[in-house]
Amino acid sequence: MQSARQFLGPAPLTSTQGERGTHWIRHEDGDRLWFVLDKQGVSTNTLDEPVLSELRDLLDEVEQGEWKALVFRSAKPSDFAAGADLKQFVGIDTASAVRAKIDEANAVIDRIAALKIPTVAAIHGTCVGGGLELALACDWIVAREDASVGFPEVLVGLHPGLGGTARLTHRISPIEAMKLMLTGRTLKAAKACKLGIVDAVVPERDIANAVNAAITGRLARRGGGRVASAMNLLPARTAAAVQMRGETEKQAPKEHYPSPHALIDLWVRHGGSEEDMLKAERASFAALLPTETAQNLVRTFFLRERLKANGKGASGIGHVHVVGAGTMGAEIGAWCALRGLRVTIEDPNRAALGKAMAEAHKLFGRRLDDPERLRAKDRFVPDTHGNGVRHADLVIEAGPERPDLKRQIYARIEAEVRPDTILATNTSSLDLDALKQGLARPGRFVGIHFFNPVSRLELVEVVRHRTTDADVYETALRFVADIGRLPLPVKASPGFLVNRALMPYLGEALLMIDEGVQRERIDAAAEKFGMPMGPVELADQVGLDICLAVADSLGRDLDRPMPDVPQWLRDKVANGELGRKTRKGLYDYGSDGKPEKDKVRQAPDDAMRDRLILPMLDAMAAALDEDVVADADSADAAMIFGTGFAPFRGGPIHYARKRGFADISATLEALATELGPRFSPSGWWRKAED
Ligand code: NAD
Repeated sequence: MQSARQFLGPAPLTSTQGERGTHWIRHEDGDRLWFVLDKQGVSTNTLDEPVLSELRDLLDEVEQGEWKALVFRSAKPSDFAAGADLKQFVGIDTASAVRAKIDEANAVIDRIAALKIPTVAAIHGTCVGGGLELALACDWIVAREDASVGFPEVLVGLHPGLGGTARLTHRISPIEAMKLMLTGRTLKAAKACKLGIVDAVVPERDIANAVNAAITGRLARRGGGRVASAMNLLPARTAAAVQMRGETEKQAPKEHYPSPHALIDLWVRHGGSEEDMLKAERASFAALLPTETAQNLVRTFFLRERLKANGKGASGIGHVHVVGAGTMGAEIGAWCALRGLRVTIEDPNRAALGKAMAEAHKLFGRRLDDPERLRAKDRFVPDTHGNGVRHADLVIEAGPERPDLKRQIYARIEAEVRPDTILATNTSSLDLDALKQGLARPGRFVGIHFFNPVSRLELVEVVRHRTTDADVYETALRFVADIGRLPLPVKASPGFLVNRALMPYLGEALLMIDEGVQRERIDAAAEKFGMPMGPVELADQVGLDICLAVADSLGRDLDRPMPDVPQWLRDKVANGELGRKTRKGLYDYGSDGKPEKDKVRQAPDDAMRDRLILPMLDAMAAALDEDVVADADSADAAMIFGTGFAPFRGGPIHYARKRGFADISATLEALATELGPRFSPSGWWRKAED
C-alpha cells in the first residue's frame, strides 16, 4: 500500500487508491489511518445516514486498534463536504421523527471527538455545515488555501445540528462564532485561520507536512480558547444576546424565521458548558426541522437547483456586447465581466457609459480581490463606436423600451454581427414576435430578461418566441447559468411571468393610495406577509416610468382587466418624479437612498394582505393556464428568485396550495364582487385542484 505522503499529490486524493468502502476510502500510513470521504455516485460530498453509518463501522477499528493518529480528507476535487444531504430533511413533520436520527448521527461525530489519539481534518474547497462539524470534532483542522468554511444552516431555517454550535462557540470567540452561524456566511481559509477556526492554511504540496506537524504537536494552536471561555460566561452571554436579538429581529423576524432566534436562545441558556450545549442543540434542531419555515426554505433550496438545471452545460459564449448603458445595460455588462466574460458596452450617451464604468468598478471592488479585480476591469470595455458587435458571440440589447428604437438598433447590429451571433433583448414588456419583424435571422433572436438589481436578483427569464432556433434557446439558457444566474424558460407573452404577476400587486397598491390608505400601511401589509419590501417602495425602486410602461402594455395586451393607473401617477412620471432614481416618487428619498417613511398609523389587516397578494397569485395561475411557464414549482422559484417573494412561504403557488386553492378562488370571487372583475379567479385553480 502507498504511504499517505506519496498519495497526497497536487490534486485531492483520487478514488482509485486505498481500500474502498461504499463512501469512504481507508488508507493505512504506517501507524496512522486516513479516512477519505468519496460519496458514491455524486460530485459533491454530503453527509447522510449511509455515509455516517459506514464511518461508524470504520471507527470501531480506530477505537480498538493501536493506531497513533486519524486523518480525514476528501477525494472530491471541489469540496471536503457540503454539509448534510438536504433530501433527508424533506417532509419531516414531527420533532420525534427526527430526534432518533439526530442522536444517532451525533453519536458518530462524538466518537471522533472522544478519540484519545490525535485527529486531523485536512480540508479543501467547500467545507460547510455537517462537513465543518465533522472537522470541528477533530483536534486539528488543516486547510488548503482554497478552502472555505461556514454554517449556512440558518438559510434553510435551521442551525447546526451535529455539535457545530457547541464546538465552534467553544473553539473561537463565541461572538464571532455566533455571527458566522447567524449570517450563514462562508469564510475563506485565511480569515477562518485568523479567527481560529482552522489551525493552518497551506498549499496542497504542504498538506502532508502540516498534518504531520499537527499529529506530532508541532503546529501552533489557533483557537481562541481564552476569549471563548470568558465570553461564554453567563453575564457576557446575556449582554451580547441583547444586541444579537435586536439585529436578528431586524433581518429575520422571529415570527417568520425562528431558527436564528433559537440559536441565540441555545447559546444564552447552554453556552456555559460545551457538553450541555451539545445536548440542547439536538433538541433545538429537532424542533426546528419540522417547522413550516424550515420545510419551505429546504424546498426553496431545491427550487434553485431546479432552475440551475435548466442551463446545464457550457454555453461557449466568451464575448458579450451590450447595447445601452442605462440602469440595466450597465448592470448586465458589469455582471458578465465579473463572471469572467469579455464585455464591450455602447451607448450614444457618453455620461451613461462613464457612469456604467464607475458602477462596475464599485461592484468589482465589493466582490473581487486583486488581481481578479483588475482583470475584471480589463474585461469590461466602453465601446463608443460599437465596434465590439463584430466580435461578439452574444449581443444583449438594453436600450429604451421603444419598439421603433429597438428595431433600428437591430437593423444596424444584424448588418455587422457574425451570422452565428445571438441577438437578445432585455425588454420587460414588448412583444418579441412583433420585435422580430424585419430581422434577417429571427431564429437567432431571443429574450434574456434580467431583473433589477442583477447582482441581487438571481432569476433571468429566457424568452422564446414562436421561431427561436432550438440551439439558440439552449445556448441562451446555458449562458445565464454560466454567469451564475438562474434561467427560467418562458414563452413570449405580455409581461412574461414575473412582471405579469407583479403588476397587479403594484397596481392594487396604487389604487389603495388613491383611496387614501397610508402608503406605509400598505407596505407594512406586504412586509408582514413576508415580502422583502412593500409594493409602494418596490414601485419606486423599479422606477415609476418603467412601472407605467409595463402596466400600460399589460393593460393593452392581456385579455384580463388590470387595475386602472391613477392619473396622478402619470402626472408624477411626466414631472420626472420617477422614484428612487430621482429621489422623489411615491416616497421622498434621503441622500442614503432610503425612503423617508412615517410611522404606520394603523396596523394592516388580513383583508389588505389578500387584496395585494391574491391578484399576484391569480396572475401566476393564468400564466400557468397559458403554458407561459412549465409548471407550478418553476413559477414559485421564479417569484422567489426574481422578486424576493417570501421564501419561507415556499413560493406563491405553494402558499396557495397550503391555504387551499378553493379558499383562494373563493376569496378572489368575494373581492371581485366587492372591488371589480379584475379579481375574477382564473380557471386554473379549479383545474389544478382536480
Ligand atoms: P434606461 O433608460 O436606464 O437605459 C437605456 C439606455 O439606452 C440609455 O443609457 C440610453 O442612452 C441608451 N440608448 C438610447 N438610444 C440608444 C441607441 N440607439 N443605442 C444604444 N443605446 C441607446 O433604461 P433601462 O431601465 O436600463 O431599461 C433598458 C431595457 O431593459 C428596457 O427594454 C427595459 O424594459 C428593460 N428592463 C428594465 C428593468 C428595470 O428595472 N429598469 C428591468 C428589466 C428589464
